[in-house]
Amino acid sequence: MAANGIGDEFDLIAKYFAPLAAGAPGALGLTDDAAMVDVPAGQRLVAAVDTVVAGIHFLGDDPPGDIARKIIRVNLSDLAAMGARPLGLLLALVLPRDVTGDWMERFAAGLKADIDEFHAPLIGGDTVAGGGPLTLTLTALGTVPANQVLTRAGALAGDAIYVTGTIGDGALGLGVAKGTLKGLDQAHQNYLLGRYRRPRPRLDFGVRLLGHAHAAIDVSDGLIADLGHICTCSGVGARLAAQAVPLSDAAQAALGLGEGKLADLLTGGDDYELLFTAPPEDDTALRAMASDLAVDVTRIGSITDGGGLEVEDGDGSESRIGKGGYRHFR
Ligand code: ADP
Ligand code: MG
Repeated sequence: MAANGIGDEFDLIAKYFAPLAAGAPGALGLTDDAAMVDVPAGQRLVAAVDTVVAGIHFLGDDPPGDIARKIIRVNLSDLAAMGARPLGLLLALVLPRDVTGDWMERFAAGLKADIDEFHAPLIGGDTVAGGGPLTLTLTALGTVPANQVLTRAGALAGDAIYVTGTIGDGALGLGVAKGTLKGLDQAHQNYLLGRYRRPRPRLDFGVRLLGHAHAAIDVSDGLIADLGHICTCSGVGARLAAQAVPLSDAAQAALGLGEGKLADLLTGGDDYELLFTAPPEDDTALRAMASDLAVDVTRIGSITDGGGLEVEDGDGSESRIGKGGYRHFR
Protein backbone atom coordinates (compact mmCIF):
# COMPACT_ATOMS: atom_id res chain seq x y z
CA MET A 1 0.00 0.00 0.00
CA ALA A 2 3.02 2.26 -0.05
CA ALA A 3 2.92 2.12 -3.84
CA ASN A 4 2.26 5.81 -4.25
CA GLY A 5 5.36 6.86 -2.30
CA ILE A 6 3.59 8.84 0.41
CA GLY A 7 3.31 6.00 2.86
CA ASP A 8 0.49 3.75 3.90
CA GLU A 9 -2.85 4.77 5.31
CA PHE A 10 -1.48 4.90 8.86
CA ASP A 11 1.29 7.29 7.79
CA LEU A 12 -1.27 9.49 6.04
CA ILE A 13 -3.57 9.58 9.06
CA ALA A 14 -0.73 10.39 11.46
CA LYS A 15 0.90 13.00 9.25
CA TYR A 16 -1.99 14.85 7.64
CA PHE A 17 -5.17 14.14 9.58
CA ALA A 18 -4.26 13.66 13.25
CA PRO A 19 -3.02 17.28 13.58
CA LEU A 20 -6.47 18.44 12.44
CA ALA A 21 -8.11 16.55 15.30
CA ALA A 22 -5.95 18.18 17.96
CA GLY A 23 -8.72 20.44 19.29
CA ALA A 24 -11.28 17.67 19.77
CA PRO A 25 -10.82 15.40 22.79
CA GLY A 26 -13.41 12.91 21.49
CA ALA A 27 -11.35 12.32 18.35
CA LEU A 28 -8.81 10.45 20.54
CA GLY A 29 -6.04 11.74 18.30
CA LEU A 30 -7.41 9.59 15.44
CA THR A 31 -5.68 6.61 17.03
CA ASP A 32 -8.70 4.65 18.17
CA ASP A 33 -11.48 2.76 16.40
CA ALA A 34 -14.08 5.52 16.53
CA ALA A 35 -14.77 8.96 17.92
CA MET A 36 -16.85 9.69 21.01
CA VAL A 37 -18.74 12.95 21.28
CA ASP A 38 -21.00 14.26 23.99
CA VAL A 39 -24.22 15.80 22.82
CA PRO A 40 -24.91 18.53 25.40
CA ALA A 41 -28.04 18.03 27.52
CA GLY A 42 -31.13 19.38 25.80
CA GLN A 43 -29.55 19.21 22.35
CA ARG A 44 -30.27 16.93 19.44
CA LEU A 45 -27.76 15.51 16.96
CA VAL A 46 -28.05 16.70 13.35
CA ALA A 47 -26.10 14.78 10.68
CA ALA A 48 -25.43 15.48 7.01
CA VAL A 49 -23.23 13.66 4.49
CA ASP A 50 -22.06 14.41 0.97
CA THR A 51 -19.89 12.54 -1.52
CA VAL A 52 -17.98 14.19 -4.36
CA VAL A 53 -16.10 12.39 -7.12
CA ALA A 54 -13.35 13.83 -9.31
CA GLY A 55 -14.56 14.22 -12.89
CA ILE A 56 -18.20 14.44 -11.79
CA HIS A 57 -18.44 17.08 -9.05
CA PHE A 58 -15.09 18.78 -9.49
CA LEU A 59 -12.02 18.53 -11.68
CA GLY A 60 -9.12 16.43 -10.46
CA ASP A 61 -6.75 19.33 -11.08
CA ASP A 62 -8.78 21.88 -9.09
CA PRO A 63 -6.73 23.44 -6.27
CA PRO A 64 -6.60 20.75 -3.54
CA GLY A 65 -7.27 23.28 -0.77
CA ASP A 66 -10.44 24.41 -2.50
CA ILE A 67 -11.65 20.82 -3.02
CA ALA A 68 -11.27 20.31 0.74
CA ARG A 69 -12.96 23.58 1.65
CA LYS A 70 -15.88 23.15 -0.69
CA ILE A 71 -16.91 19.76 0.67
CA ILE A 72 -16.70 21.10 4.22
CA ARG A 73 -18.70 24.22 3.37
CA VAL A 74 -21.39 22.37 1.45
CA ASN A 75 -21.98 20.09 4.43
CA LEU A 76 -21.92 22.92 6.94
CA SER A 77 -24.46 24.71 4.78
CA ASP A 78 -26.80 21.74 5.29
CA LEU A 79 -26.34 22.14 9.05
CA ALA A 80 -27.00 25.88 8.74
CA ALA A 81 -30.30 25.18 6.98
CA MET A 82 -31.39 23.14 10.03
CA GLY A 83 -30.29 25.85 12.47
CA ALA A 84 -27.52 23.59 13.79
CA ARG A 85 -24.05 24.40 15.13
CA PRO A 86 -21.19 22.15 13.98
CA LEU A 87 -19.90 19.50 16.38
CA GLY A 88 -17.41 17.61 14.22
CA LEU A 89 -16.55 16.20 10.82
CA LEU A 90 -15.78 12.67 9.55
CA LEU A 91 -13.92 12.39 6.26
CA ALA A 92 -13.67 9.28 4.07
CA LEU A 93 -11.17 9.47 1.24
CA VAL A 94 -10.36 7.35 -1.77
CA LEU A 95 -7.03 8.58 -3.09
CA PRO A 96 -5.80 8.04 -6.65
CA ARG A 97 -2.58 6.08 -6.99
CA ASP A 98 -0.61 9.10 -8.17
CA VAL A 99 -1.46 11.43 -5.28
CA THR A 100 1.64 13.34 -4.13
CA GLY A 101 2.85 14.61 -0.80
CA ASP A 102 2.48 18.15 -2.11
CA TRP A 103 -1.17 17.51 -3.00
CA MET A 104 -1.81 16.06 0.47
CA GLU A 105 -0.16 19.09 2.15
CA ARG A 106 -2.34 21.52 0.24
CA PHE A 107 -5.47 19.45 0.78
CA ALA A 108 -4.81 19.25 4.54
CA ALA A 109 -4.10 23.00 4.68
CA GLY A 110 -7.51 23.66 3.10
CA LEU A 111 -9.16 21.36 5.63
CA LYS A 112 -7.38 23.13 8.48
CA ALA A 113 -8.40 26.61 7.32
CA ASP A 114 -12.09 25.72 7.43
CA ILE A 115 -11.92 23.51 10.52
CA ASP A 116 -10.51 26.53 12.35
CA GLU A 117 -12.82 29.08 10.77
CA PHE A 118 -16.03 27.17 11.41
CA HIS A 119 -15.02 25.48 14.69
CA ALA A 120 -15.75 22.05 13.24
CA PRO A 121 -12.97 19.64 14.27
CA LEU A 122 -12.08 16.51 12.33
CA ILE A 123 -13.06 13.61 14.58
CA GLY A 124 -12.65 10.61 12.31
CA GLY A 125 -12.77 9.15 8.85
CA ASP A 126 -11.44 6.45 6.62
CA THR A 127 -8.60 6.40 4.13
CA VAL A 128 -8.22 4.17 1.09
CA ALA A 129 -4.96 4.84 -0.68
CA GLY A 130 -5.32 2.18 -3.30
CA GLY A 131 -6.38 4.05 -6.43
CA GLY A 132 -9.60 5.03 -8.17
CA PRO A 133 -10.81 8.55 -8.94
CA LEU A 134 -10.36 10.93 -6.01
CA THR A 135 -13.54 10.52 -3.97
CA LEU A 136 -14.43 12.37 -0.80
CA THR A 137 -17.26 11.65 1.59
CA LEU A 138 -17.73 14.13 4.39
CA THR A 139 -20.12 13.68 7.29
CA ALA A 140 -20.90 16.77 9.35
CA LEU A 141 -22.36 16.39 12.82
CA GLY A 142 -24.07 19.28 14.55
CA THR A 143 -26.42 20.08 17.37
CA VAL A 144 -29.68 21.93 17.63
CA PRO A 145 -31.78 22.62 20.76
CA ALA A 146 -34.05 19.60 21.18
CA ASN A 147 -37.17 21.73 21.50
CA GLN A 148 -36.61 23.69 18.28
CA VAL A 149 -37.15 22.43 14.78
CA LEU A 150 -36.19 24.08 11.51
CA THR A 151 -36.93 21.97 8.44
CA ARG A 152 -38.27 22.39 4.90
CA ALA A 153 -41.72 21.44 6.08
CA GLY A 154 -43.03 24.29 8.24
CA ALA A 155 -43.90 27.04 5.72
CA LEU A 156 -47.38 28.55 6.15
CA ALA A 157 -49.55 30.54 3.74
CA GLY A 158 -48.91 34.24 4.34
CA ASP A 159 -45.23 33.75 5.27
CA ALA A 160 -42.73 36.07 3.68
CA ILE A 161 -39.94 34.39 1.68
CA TYR A 162 -36.38 35.59 2.21
CA VAL A 163 -32.94 34.76 0.93
CA THR A 164 -29.49 35.61 2.35
CA GLY A 165 -26.67 37.04 0.24
CA THR A 166 -26.90 36.98 -3.54
CA ILE A 167 -28.19 34.38 -5.99
CA GLY A 168 -26.65 33.10 -9.21
CA ASP A 169 -22.98 33.57 -8.36
CA GLY A 170 -22.39 29.83 -8.00
CA ALA A 171 -23.64 29.04 -11.50
CA LEU A 172 -21.69 31.96 -12.98
CA GLY A 173 -18.58 30.92 -11.04
CA LEU A 174 -18.81 27.46 -12.58
CA GLY A 175 -18.87 29.19 -15.97
CA VAL A 176 -15.69 31.06 -15.05
CA ALA A 177 -14.06 27.80 -13.84
CA LYS A 178 -14.96 26.05 -17.11
CA GLY A 179 -13.80 29.02 -19.19
CA THR A 180 -17.22 29.50 -20.79
CA LEU A 181 -17.95 32.84 -19.09
CA LYS A 182 -15.61 35.34 -20.65
CA GLY A 183 -15.71 39.08 -21.13
CA LEU A 184 -16.12 40.02 -17.48
CA ASP A 185 -13.29 41.99 -15.91
CA GLN A 186 -10.82 40.03 -13.80
CA ALA A 187 -12.13 41.25 -10.43
CA HIS A 188 -15.64 40.04 -11.23
CA GLN A 189 -14.33 36.72 -12.51
CA ASN A 190 -12.29 36.22 -9.34
CA TYR A 191 -15.26 37.07 -7.17
CA LEU A 192 -17.52 34.57 -8.97
CA LEU A 193 -14.88 31.84 -8.92
CA GLY A 194 -14.46 32.40 -5.18
CA ARG A 195 -18.20 32.11 -4.66
CA TYR A 196 -18.23 28.83 -6.57
CA ARG A 197 -15.19 27.30 -4.92
CA ARG A 198 -15.56 28.68 -1.41
CA PRO A 199 -19.26 29.25 -0.68
CA ARG A 200 -20.02 30.65 2.78
CA PRO A 201 -22.22 28.46 4.98
CA ARG A 202 -24.57 30.79 6.87
CA LEU A 203 -24.11 29.03 10.18
CA ASP A 204 -24.52 31.94 12.58
CA PHE A 205 -27.55 33.23 10.78
CA GLY A 206 -29.07 29.74 10.61
CA VAL A 207 -28.87 29.41 14.39
CA ARG A 208 -30.57 32.78 14.79
CA LEU A 209 -33.42 31.66 12.53
CA LEU A 210 -34.60 29.22 15.19
CA GLY A 211 -37.77 30.58 16.71
CA HIS A 212 -38.36 32.93 13.76
CA ALA A 213 -38.30 30.98 10.50
CA HIS A 214 -41.04 28.46 9.74
CA ALA A 215 -39.02 26.64 7.06
CA ALA A 216 -35.53 26.82 5.61
CA ILE A 217 -33.33 25.18 2.97
CA ASP A 218 -29.90 25.98 1.61
CA VAL A 219 -29.78 26.89 -2.08
CA SER A 220 -27.86 24.06 -3.71
CA ASP A 221 -30.10 22.92 -6.60
CA GLY A 222 -31.05 26.46 -7.63
CA LEU A 223 -33.36 29.03 -6.05
CA ILE A 224 -36.47 27.93 -7.97
CA ALA A 225 -35.94 24.22 -7.36
CA ASP A 226 -35.15 24.75 -3.69
CA LEU A 227 -38.21 26.94 -3.17
CA GLY A 228 -40.11 24.12 -4.85
CA HIS A 229 -38.71 21.71 -2.23
CA ILE A 230 -40.04 23.93 0.57
CA CYS A 231 -43.44 24.11 -1.15
CA THR A 232 -43.64 20.34 -1.62
CA CYS A 233 -42.50 19.51 1.90
CA SER A 234 -44.80 22.14 3.45
CA GLY A 235 -47.82 21.51 1.19
CA VAL A 236 -48.02 25.18 0.16
CA GLY A 237 -47.49 27.34 -2.93
CA ALA A 238 -45.33 30.41 -3.45
CA ARG A 239 -45.17 33.67 -5.37
CA LEU A 240 -41.66 34.74 -6.21
CA ALA A 241 -40.86 38.29 -7.37
CA ALA A 242 -38.03 37.62 -9.83
CA GLN A 243 -36.91 41.26 -9.92
CA ALA A 244 -36.50 41.30 -6.14
CA VAL A 245 -33.95 38.46 -6.13
CA PRO A 246 -30.63 39.98 -4.99
CA LEU A 247 -27.76 39.81 -7.49
CA SER A 248 -24.10 40.63 -6.93
CA ASP A 249 -22.39 43.39 -8.92
CA ALA A 250 -20.55 40.66 -10.82
CA ALA A 251 -23.82 38.86 -11.68
CA GLN A 252 -25.38 42.15 -12.82
CA ALA A 253 -22.32 42.83 -14.96
CA ALA A 254 -22.65 39.35 -16.51
CA LEU A 255 -26.32 39.95 -17.33
CA GLY A 256 -25.41 43.37 -18.73
CA LEU A 257 -22.97 41.69 -21.12
CA GLY A 258 -25.66 39.28 -22.25
CA GLU A 259 -23.88 36.39 -20.50
CA GLY A 260 -26.99 34.44 -19.61
CA LYS A 261 -30.44 35.48 -18.46
CA LEU A 262 -31.98 36.12 -15.07
CA ALA A 263 -33.79 32.77 -15.40
CA ASP A 264 -30.40 31.00 -15.58
CA LEU A 265 -29.36 32.58 -12.29
CA LEU A 266 -32.63 31.63 -10.59
CA THR A 267 -32.29 28.02 -11.69
CA GLY A 268 -28.48 27.66 -11.39
CA GLY A 269 -27.23 25.84 -8.32
CA ASP A 270 -24.34 26.01 -5.88
CA ASP A 271 -25.16 29.28 -4.11
CA TYR A 272 -25.34 27.87 -0.56
CA GLU A 273 -27.36 30.81 0.67
CA LEU A 274 -30.28 30.26 3.05
CA LEU A 275 -33.80 30.44 1.63
CA PHE A 276 -36.39 30.64 4.39
CA THR A 277 -39.92 31.66 5.22
CA ALA A 278 -41.12 33.58 8.26
CA PRO A 279 -44.29 35.32 9.37
CA PRO A 280 -44.38 38.95 8.19
CA GLU A 281 -44.53 40.22 11.79
CA ASP A 282 -40.98 38.87 12.31
CA ASP A 283 -39.61 41.10 9.55
CA THR A 284 -38.15 43.72 11.91
CA ALA A 285 -36.52 41.11 14.13
CA LEU A 286 -35.04 39.32 11.10
CA ARG A 287 -33.58 42.52 9.73
CA ALA A 288 -32.02 43.35 13.10
CA MET A 289 -30.45 39.86 13.27
CA ALA A 290 -29.16 40.20 9.74
CA SER A 291 -27.57 43.55 10.46
CA ASP A 292 -26.01 42.18 13.70
CA LEU A 293 -24.30 39.47 11.68
CA ALA A 294 -23.61 41.66 8.62
CA VAL A 295 -25.62 39.26 6.43
CA ASP A 296 -27.78 40.70 3.67
CA VAL A 297 -31.34 39.42 3.77
CA THR A 298 -33.86 40.19 1.03
CA ARG A 299 -37.56 39.53 0.88
CA ILE A 300 -38.34 37.89 -2.46
CA GLY A 301 -41.93 36.69 -2.23
CA SER A 302 -44.74 35.15 -0.23
CA ILE A 303 -46.04 31.69 0.57
CA THR A 304 -49.53 30.99 -0.78
CA ASP A 305 -51.98 28.29 0.15
CA GLY A 306 -51.57 26.32 -3.04
CA GLY A 307 -51.36 26.69 -6.79
CA GLY A 308 -47.72 25.75 -7.17
CA LEU A 309 -44.90 28.17 -7.65
CA GLU A 310 -45.63 31.41 -9.50
CA VAL A 311 -42.91 33.73 -10.71
CA GLU A 312 -43.70 37.41 -11.32
CA ASP A 313 -41.35 38.73 -13.94
CA GLY A 314 -41.70 42.36 -12.89
CA ASP A 315 -43.51 43.71 -15.94
CA GLY A 316 -46.86 42.15 -15.15
CA SER A 317 -46.08 38.89 -16.90
CA GLU A 318 -46.06 35.69 -14.96
CA SER A 319 -44.76 32.16 -15.14
CA ARG A 320 -45.91 29.09 -13.38
CA ILE A 321 -43.71 26.22 -12.40
CA GLY A 322 -45.64 23.01 -12.32
CA LYS A 323 -44.56 19.46 -11.70
CA GLY A 324 -42.81 19.42 -15.05
CA GLY A 325 -40.31 22.01 -13.86
CA TYR A 326 -39.64 25.57 -14.70
CA ARG A 327 -41.47 26.87 -17.79
CA HIS A 328 -42.27 29.95 -19.82
CA PHE A 329 -39.84 32.23 -18.10
CA ARG A 330 -38.86 35.02 -20.46
P1 ADP B 1 -10.34 1.03 11.31
O1 ADP B 1 -9.51 0.04 10.55
O2 ADP B 1 -10.73 0.62 12.68
O3 ADP B 1 -11.46 1.59 10.49
P2 ADP B 1 -8.62 3.11 10.53
O4 ADP B 1 -7.21 2.68 10.49
O5 ADP B 1 -9.38 3.21 9.28
O6 ADP B 1 -9.36 2.23 11.61
O7 ADP B 1 -8.68 4.52 11.23
C1 ADP B 1 -7.93 4.79 12.40
C2 ADP B 1 -8.37 6.10 12.95
O8 ADP B 1 -8.07 7.14 12.00
C3 ADP B 1 -9.87 6.19 13.23
O9 ADP B 1 -10.03 6.95 14.39
C4 ADP B 1 -10.40 6.94 12.02
O10 ADP B 1 -11.56 7.67 12.35
C5 ADP B 1 -9.22 7.85 11.68
N1 ADP B 1 -9.15 8.21 10.23
C6 ADP B 1 -8.85 7.40 9.19
N2 ADP B 1 -8.85 8.09 8.03
C7 ADP B 1 -9.16 9.35 8.33
C8 ADP B 1 -9.36 10.54 7.57
N3 ADP B 1 -9.23 10.58 6.23
N4 ADP B 1 -9.69 11.67 8.23
C9 ADP B 1 -9.85 11.65 9.57
N5 ADP B 1 -9.69 10.59 10.34
C10 ADP B 1 -9.35 9.43 9.73
MG1 MG C 1 -11.23 2.43 8.68
